[in-house]
Amino acid sequence: MSDTHARFDRAQRHIPGGVNSPVRAFRGVGGDPLFIERAAGAYLHATDGRRYIDYVGSWGPMILGHAHPEVIAAVQGAAANGLSFGAPTELETEMADRVCKLVPSMDMVRMVNSGTEATMSAIRLARGFTGRDKIVKFEGCYHGHADSLLVKAGSGALTLGVPDSPGVPAALAEHTLTLPYNDLDAVAEAFARVGGQIACIIVEPVAGNMGCVPPVPGFLEGLRTLCDRYGTLLIFDEVMTGFRVALGGAQALYGIQPDLTTLGKIIGGGMPVGAFGGRREIMEQLAPLGPVYQAGTLSGNPLAMTAGLKTLELIGAPGFHERLTETTARLMHGLEVAAAEAGVAVRINQVGAMFGLFFTDAPAVTRFADVMACDADRFRLFFHGMLDEGVYLAPSAYESGFVSSAHGETEIEATLASAQRAFAAIG
Ligand code: PMP
Repeated sequence: MSDTHARFDRAQRHIPGGVNSPVRAFRGVGGDPLFIERAAGAYLHATDGRRYIDYVGSWGPMILGHAHPEVIAAVQGAAANGLSFGAPTELETEMADRVCKLVPSMDMVRMVNSGTEATMSAIRLARGFTGRDKIVKFEGCYHGHADSLLVKAGSGALTLGVPDSPGVPAALAEHTLTLPYNDLDAVAEAFARVGGQIACIIVEPVAGNMGCVPPVPGFLEGLRTLCDRYGTLLIFDEVMTGFRVALGGAQALYGIQPDLTTLGKIIGGGMPVGAFGGRREIMEQLAPLGPVYQAGTLSGNPLAMTAGLKTLELIGAPGFHERLTETTARLMHGLEVAAAEAGVAVRINQVGAMFGLFFTDAPAVTRFADVMACDADRFRLFFHGMLDEGVYLAPSAYESGFVSSAHGETEIEATLASAQRAFAAIG
């Protein structure tokens, strides 16, 4: 029995599936997951004694690479002052000021502890504000695991084949309308039927939980127009895209103002953090100002605020996102060339430092149906080929990849050399 297998065996004794979040278990690709000892820059160091170039980045937060010395020093400094107070700190004010400056559609923001909490709270607020029950989401989008949102969900729910989870009461799920992503006609048709009952549309402005699927031109604009016409709130779930595809998130990139925004991942710099915010008149409905209840023992935690603030400061350096986008584009171009040389049909989508690699000969991947038509078995073979080479991709065909500022020329070249061999092996 290999060392990793023994560790995974032991983990499974008292942890369901051996993991604390499903996709980590490698069910989508087979085999045992790596156990990570530590990480630095672009590399994960696993208990098998090997190091891996990492394109998961803890599923998005590690945009500066792992264990960035300035982030670690800031967190160590904060830890010396105490781990949690459950009372206001100036760090929280600083964080709110910074987020509202970087994301101008947000007049006010409330910190929570995960992306799931952020979207769950934003939905409750939208329902409370509008007095309506129905919500619209899109097939293949993932917004965390709150009941209303686990209907035709992406990410791990999709990987494991349970997009509609048991345990979600039908009485609740019936208020969630799920529509095809990038299909504005379908949305217009739904609004023509029940628009007056829809509290909000929640959308990933770049879908990142069915691989990476950018919005087609006019889609986000059309959602904004429909929401305005029917008095429905538009929620951009920027848990993944926020501070990644641009400093101001996807809303800055595409020039659309949502009513509410949810954030996570990068805003915590690797600590457990989420946030939601938006227009003042909506946010003022939250307790203690208004009647919509929402709270958290550890919300605004000083270590989490410190890690997030330092991360936001560092990624605010001039040219940061341009360089990251450029590095990602170089990697994507190299992957396309390598695949073509090996005779393997792939389509690649990239938005900023976020990418999706699809094994398909379809001319473009813009819809959930396009994603589902891809060759998941080929992805599995490619994933293991790359893992053997020392490159760690997300262990599912339905996840986005992420590049960090710690990925330099050396890592990109090494990744492309590995990809040439991995594509050749499955060509
Ligand atoms: N929304 C989006 C767009 C996400 O990608 C995720 C997580 N990948 C979530 C919400 C949920 O965040 P968390 O896992 O922190 O609860």
